[in-house]
Amino acid sequence: VSTSDDLRLGTRFADVLPELAVRWKAEEAPEPRLVVLNEPLAHELGLDPDWLRSDDGVALLVGAVLPEGATPVAQGYAGHQFGGYSPRLGDGRALLLGELAGPDGELRDLHLKGSGRTPWARGGDGLAALGPMLREHVISEAMHALGIPTTRSLAVVATGRAVHRDQVLPGAVLARVAASHLRVGSFQYARASGDLDLLRRLADHAIERHHPAAREAGPGGAAYLALLEGVVEAQARLVAQWVLVGFVHGVMNTDNMTISGESIDYGPCAFLDAYDPSTVFSSIDTGGRYAFRNQPAAAQWNLARLAEALLPLIDDDEERAIAAATATLERFATAYADAFTDGAAAKLGLPEGLERALVAPLVEDLLALMAAARVDHTSFWRSLGEAARGDAEGVRGVVLDLPGLDAWLERWRALDPDADAMDRVNPVYVPRNHLVEEALDAATAGDLAPLHRLLEAVTAPYDERPGLEDHARPGPEGAGPYVTFC
Ligand code: AMP
Ligand code: MG
Ligand code: MG
Repeated sequence: VSTSDDLRLGTRFADVLPELAVRWKAEEAPEPRLVVLNEPLAHELGLDPDWLRSDDGVALLVGAVLPEGATPVAQGYAGHQFGGYSPRLGDGRALLLGELAGPDGELRDLHLKGSGRTPWARGGDGLAALGPMLREHVISEAMHALGIPTTRSLAVVATGRAVHRDQVLPGAVLARVAASHLRVGSFQYARASGDLDLLRRLADHAIERHHPAAREAGPGGAAYLALLEGVVEAQARLVAQWVLVGFVHGVMNTDNMTISGESIDYGPCAFLDAYDPSTVFSSIDTGGRYAFRNQPAAAQWNLARLAEALLPLIDDDEERAIAAATATLERFATAYADAFTDGAAAKLGLPEGLERALVAPLVEDLLALMAAARVDHTSFWRSLGEAARGDAEGVRGVVLDLPGLDAWLERWRALDPDADAMDRVNPVYVPRNHLVEEALDAATAGDLAPLHRLLEAVTAPYDERPGLEDHARPGPEGAGPYVTFC
């Protein structure tokens, strides 16, 4: 696709679920300027990067030009925010431009964030500042490169509009690509509407788009129970991957949890430096609800809200529906533990097919050693690869309990770990908090060089390269705990 005239954006969501779709238009961007374009993603989507850089392309990326037949909508959803229910959230500052069928035939949502107030904006200004949109770009591309299912960022365009936060900041629009933007909160909204037909259409749409196998599960409510099971398993795998890489999402509200199993909404998120399971980065998470170690429980809590929303579709008899949904929710614990143990076994370079009952205690004991010394999460795992090659100095230099570590190394080496395999799953580079801040500040001030260097590091995370040493290290000691704002 090389012009906006050639682009076809589907309107399936708006057609099938009009109750959840408010037709809307992006606010005008006075002086749009492309700040960053994701060329590999553009190619994947069959979009010509040179076109996206042109005036016509940039106009599309801020919603000023619409392909023929496109119907941008603000999506409605509800959500539990830090445990409290909000019946009307929705896209306050975002728009679904439409569904894009890439060369692979897969449908993806093309979505704008920061595109102006919508009827769901409540008190918000509908805008986004450049820094947070670039953070989403960096983190989502890092997650993708780490092999973690995620929404993607196609581009960030500065709008030329000032955004008033605690300071005056440049405004921006993020063009986001997702398997879809269906959330747990979408189901809560449909359920709360009392319109069973809407709830069924939403569930059917989700099955078709994300969990087509559920359709074959059987008659009656079986397909909807299978949908729940599909989401439970996808989310269990997702959160296990977050934990394995030291990622803290920061705001796991039900409106920020997808039905597809992709990570979404990169606000106050960050990666661990020091391995401390109680870590909280977000300034608003004062109770530690979404602390690093609470993420599996938070996910399970959200899935219970999804199950509640689906009950009337699962069985006409409420008690039977609850029993079936509860049994399905109980799968989360096993699915999570299996995904976590298998992922940890890979990080330890262990041969496939080892019994999980053997691997799990080995992992637990290692994590206890790591936590006791608050080791740097990313570099510790990476230097464990060196230990598999026979050089344990890296890990011995940072763990406090050396006899404990040596005993552990002996147990582990007896299982014949594969160092090269470890280097393919233990990243050298994750977005380091202090470098993310530095890159966003510089970009806000007009210097994109640190941002590009950061992207260079985190989009090829397993491949150690000279000149990027600072990206492989934690922030300077004494900087104090890292705090994120959203
Ligand atoms: P989040 O915490 O990012 O998931 O956002 C929660 C809700 O607040 C969503 O309904 C957003 O659309 C809305 N929201 C966040 N920021 C703004 C803003 N600047 N203007 C309007 N709505 C917003
Ligand atoms: Mg959100
Ligand atoms: Mg957000």
